[in-house]
Amino acid sequence: MPWEPPIERWCPDIKHYWQARHIKTIEFAVGACGIPLAWTKFPIAEGEHEIIAFMNDVWPNLNNRPHYIVIDKACRVMASLGVIGQLLPPHGWLATTQLKVETWHYTSHGIDDLCVEYCNPGDKIDPNLVDADNDAGYRRLHNYVAAEHHNAWTQPYEATFTKMRPLNHALFMNILLTLRANNLMRKSVPLPI
Ligand SMILES: [Zn+2]
Repeated sequence: MPWEPPIERWCPDIKHYWQARHIKTIEFAVGACGIPLAWTKFPIAEGEHEIIAFMNDVWPNLNNRPHYIVIDKACRVMASLGVIGQLLPPHGWLATTQLKVETWHYTSHGIDDLCVEYCNPGDKIDPNLVDADNDAGYRRLHNYVAAEHHNAWTQPYEATFTKMRPLNHALFMNILLTLRANNLMRKSVPLPI
């Protein structure tokens, strides 16, 4: 694979051998209900440009983008979107989508003007993100922590995933995520009509 390191010849007598290297990051998009929506691999790092490529892959069309995306480094993603001309309306992400920083991560983001203005998860602008029963602020709303729950759920499989070839890895991931989605939907309670 492209991210595998060049072969280092440690023994001149051996003509053919290879070495595998693990990818760095598995990135998930998770719905507020916890259902996994999409995933990808970031071989080297979870950089802003990798995140943007993933967002554009998952939501290529403006007419079905989510109203909110919560990302740990949302402000840096916004800045990078601005640089490549994909931030501002009418065709950029801000036309459809607010990028917020997850509540816990935001505590270390507050010094950045752009972050305070756009990414504050507790800005009280959208009633969907207000917890009316807890005026002490904004509880870590379920939709802000869905991704954390998802990450915790993947932990027991981590060791298994490190010992797989790429295709087996992808297949195993898809099977697990399908089971996860089915379980969550089975447990969910339909809203009253
Ligand atoms: Zn920030």
